[in-house]
Amino acid sequence: MATIEDIKETALIPFQKHRQLSMHEAEVITLEIIGLLCDSECKDEKTLKYLGRFLTPDMYQDLVDERNLNKRCGYPLCGKSPERIRDPFSMNDTTKKFLLENNPYAYLSHYCSKFHFRCSQFYQVQLSDEALFARTGVHLFEDPEQDKHDIDFKVTLFEELLREKASEEDIKSLISGLKKLGLDPDSGNTDKKDTELEDDLSKWLAQIKIVENNNPSILGDFTKED
Ligand code: ZN
Repeated sequence: MATIEDIKETALIPFQKHRQLSMHEAEVITLEIIGLLCDSECKDEKTLKYLGRFLTPDMYQDLVDERNLNKRCGYPLCGKSPERIRDPFSMNDTTKKFLLENNPYAYLSHYCSKFHFRCSQFYQVQLSDEALFARTGVHLFEDPEQDKHDIDFKVTLFEELLREKASEEDIKSLISGLKKLGLDPDSGNTDKKDTELEDDLSKWLAQIKIVENNNPSILGDFTKED
């Protein structure tokens, strides 16, 4: 299992002498991180939260895909297999695509449970789109702007939200994450990337808003949903 120390040792040590990463160096770090976690998992929540400072939503998707190739649940905190493991060679691409698009339980091919599917989406939606090489100094063990990185790339885990019964700050963080993807229901943004994700997250937003009105039991029920 990977810890923050493992990430530092595997991916970051060679780049401690300068704050500004080149594009190539950022790519190397990305590959090392994916290599570390495609066949292992984060030891604790702290590690997954720390990872947020290096990941974009696309990089995270690559990590999920790589984990799936290794027959692991896509959520990097999980050591289980997806609920439904399919031989990727047993069907052609068209069939696969059809099944993914038409099967409401398609997530079970990628995650051990609906809960981890939710956790994963919740994590992904909060990641910054800013390229890693533009995140000056995030890779340094000692950086004068460490506190700023902690804020800029803060990720709240869905598990935390549930534990803390969705504090106001967490809700704000969720909502700002959704806005980033243009999912704000008031924004009128029609440039939607992924209808399924959008539907899913809009439902979340609706549920989270209920929580905001002091009804935390909704989130409790939510976890048991299947
Ligand atoms: Zn899982």
